[in-house]
Amino acid sequence: MVLVVEIGETVAERFLRYVKCDTQSAEKSETYPSTGKQKEFGRKLVEELQELGLEGASIDEYGYVMATLPANIRRAVPVIGFMAHMDTSPALSGKDVKPLIHESYAGADIVLPGDNTQILRRSENPELSKKIGEGIITGDGTTLLGADDKAGVAEIMDMAHFLVNNPEVHHGTIKVAFTPDEEVGSGVEHFDVQKFGAEYAYTMDGETLGDVENETFSADSVHVTFRGISFHPGYAKGRLVNSIKVASAFVNKLPKERMSPETTEELEGYVHPYLVEGGVESTSVQFIVRDFDDDELKKKEEMLRGLVEETVRSYPKSNFTFEVEETYRNMKRVLDKHPQVVEKAMDAIGMTGLQPRLGRIRGGTDGARLCYMGLPTPNLASGQHNFHSKLEWISIQDMKKASEVIVNLVKVWAMSPE
Ligand SMILES: [Zn+2]
Repeated sequence: MVLVVEIGETVAERFLRYVKCDTQSAEKSETYPSTGKQKEFGRKLVEELQELGLEGASIDEYGYVMATLPANIRRAVPVIGFMAHMDTSPALSGKDVKPLIHESYAGADIVLPGDNTQILRRSENPELSKKIGEGIITGDGTTLLGADDKAGVAEIMDMAHFLVNNPEVHHGTIKVAFTPDEEVGSGVEHFDVQKFGAEYAYTMDGETLGDVENETFSADSVHVTFRGISFHPGYAKGRLVNSIKVASAFVNKLPKERMSPETTEELEGYVHPYLVEGGVESTSVQFIVRDFDDDELKKKEEMLRGLVEETVRSYPKSNFTFEVEETYRNMKRVLDKHPQVVEKAMDAIGMTGLQPRLGRIRGGTDGARLCYMGLPTPNLASGQHNFHSKLEWISIQDMKKASEVIVNLVKVWAMSPE
C-alpha cells in the first residue's frame, strides 16, 4: 500500500483562501478585465504558480494568467490545458465572503447564519442528499460563495501541486490558464490560443462530478427596429404612425405556449425578447435566439422575420430593419472532430470511481468560443452547486475527487500513442 502524504495545503484550504478574494466582474465596464480586482487575484495566483515551480507563470495586460508544467517523459504526447475563470457573478456581492464548513453533513436543512431566510433545503437540492457524511462548504447567506469558479481554480492548482510533488507520475506538457470576465460573457475575448500552446483543453466549471459537457446552445442576437412617423398629436389624424404600437403588435404575435425560456427545457430552443426601447418614431426590440441545432436556429430567426413582415403589413406607412448577429455556436460540432478529447475525460472520470455522463449546457461557455478559436475545450465538473446564489455550496470530498479527475486525465493523455 502506498501512503499518500499531503504536502502543504489541501484543495479545500486553498479554496477557502481563494473565495475570500473579491473578484466580481462587472457588466458595462470600459476596461478589460471589467474590474481591477480580478488582476490582483491573478497576480497572487502567478506568485503561487512560481512558488510551485511552474515555468513562465505570468499575467498579461488583459488579466490572463498562464503557466507551464513541463513534460517529464521523453515521448511526444499532446499538450493539454486546464482552465478556470477567476471572476464571480455580478449578480451577487463577492465581497467579504465568509465560507462556513459543515463537517460530516448529517442530512438536515442548513440555515445560513448571516441571513436565516437563506436555507439550503435537502428537498430542493437532490445532490445534497448524496453528500451525507461529507464536509459541505457554504457562504454565510449574505453573499455568494464563489465556488463558481474558485473551485476550478483550486482544483487545477491542486493538480499542479500534486504533479510537482509526485514526479513519478508521468505526464506530457501541461498548460494552466486562469481567465477573467467569464460571467460577463467575454472571458476569452483576448485569449491568445497560440501563446497558450495547448492542443486540447478542459474548463473546470461544471456542476455535478462525472459530467462532461460537450454541447452548448448555438446563439444569435436579433435586433428589430420599427419606424413610424411622428406628428403633432393635435394635428396627426391620418398621418401619425406610432412605432410603439407596431412593436407591441409584433410582440403580441410571438408564440405564447412554446419557444420561450419559460416554456422550454432539455433540447428545445427559444426566442426571447429581453429589451424594448423607443418612442413614437422608432422602437427597437432585442432578442436572444437559442437552439442546439444551427438549422433550427435559422428557422426561428426566419419565423421572427415573418412575424415582423406580417405586422408591418397592417401598418402600411411603417417600416423596419432586422439584424442578426452571431454570438456563439454549439461546440459539439468541433468536439465531434476530436472524439479523443471527450473520450479521455470519460476514461479519467471512470478511473476516479465516478460515473461519467455526457451533458449539454443550455447556454454558452468559454469553451464553446475556444472550440471555434481552434482549441477544442469541453467542460468538466468542479463540484459547484447553486451558482450565482446565496445558497451556493460545494463538498470538500467532491473537490478532492475533481482534482483527482484532472490528475487521472493527465495520466490518460500521457499514455496516448504518439
Ligand atoms: Zn462558472
